[in-house]
Amino acid sequence: MSMIDSVSAQEAYRDELVAAGLLIPTGVDGLYGRSGMFEEVVERFDALVTVWGGADGAEVMRFPPALNRKYFEESEYLKSFPHLAGTIHSFKGDERAHRSLLRKLEEGQDWTEEQVATDVVMTPAACYPVYPTVAARGPLPEDGRLIDVFSYCFRHEPSLDPARMQLFRMREYIRVGTPDQVMDFRETWLRRGREMMGSLGVPLDIDVANDPFFGRAGTMLSNNQRDQKLKFELLIPITSEEKPTACLSFNYHQDHFGHLWDIKTADGGVAHTACVGFGMERVALALFRHHGFDVARWPAPVRSVLWG
Ligand code: AMP
Ligand code: ZN
Repeated sequence: MSMIDSVSAQEAYRDELVAAGLLIPTGVDGLYGRSGMFEEVVERFDALVTVWGGADGAEVMRFPPALNRKYFEESEYLKSFPHLAGTIHSFKGDERAHRSLLRKLEEGQDWTEEQVATDVVMTPAACYPVYPTVAARGPLPEDGRLIDVFSYCFRHEPSLDPARMQLFRMREYIRVGTPDQVMDFRETWLRRGREMMGSLGVPLDIDVANDPFFGRAGTMLSNNQRDQKLKFELLIPITSEEKPTACLSFNYHQDHFGHLWDIKTADGGVAHTACVGFGMERVALALFRHHGFDVARWPAPVRSVLWG
């Protein structure tokens, strides 16, 4: 499939989803409302993740989809992905500035110039609030920590591909501990992820991956991530067989976050971290693609996995 074919296949699937009412357009690419049926699939899949991971006893944390700007700055996200970040700006002027804002608005000029940065930034990945939070608690207990998060995430990557949204939800488990604890966790989830997604009757493949790091320095980071197998993705074809979509990801950050926030293991070493991320909308889109738009007509085994 050529580049153009794959874009038109994405657009065609988006149009089908909108026509079926599963996605509700807002006039912005990558920003959608979802129907009750879409949400039900997201909720059932979220529950399925808990079926597979719940017995591990992770500590549940739920954050709003925004991050303390200070944490964001410390995370070095801007070094790697300045093009994806979303900052929250707000009006901070006096009455005169307000009048000028309204005038610009009326005249169709750019009124956003005078908006100033607030203390909050959009969450780029659900695990970001966790590392500084864990760091603030002091050294890790012997068996490290395991955290369960779920959040809307923002990435500025407008696209016609319905699987590439600007605001989407990510469920994650995050492991913080010694290198052995963290590698064990990732191995476990690579196995579980394959089995769990297999039970949903979708074709899948797991492969090494790399993130879209920005710029020339980014190419090196990307290659390093791939060569060292720091990231794996579970891929499911949605709009293309040749370019299947990453629906789950398995990340090993080595001691990157441990260093940034000075997270120490019980024996004083720098903590390592890993996370497994479940892309809620992508999984729903994959299920609708392979089993049809009406969940009542999905294969019985898949219905029973999701609805019990
Ligand atoms: P990442 O941090 O890029 O590995 O993302 C974690 C998971 O979130 C991926 O495996 C995808 O399932 C999902 N995801 C990432 N980017 C997007 C996006 N733009 N739209 C929808 N889902 C996404
Ligand atoms: Zn993560």
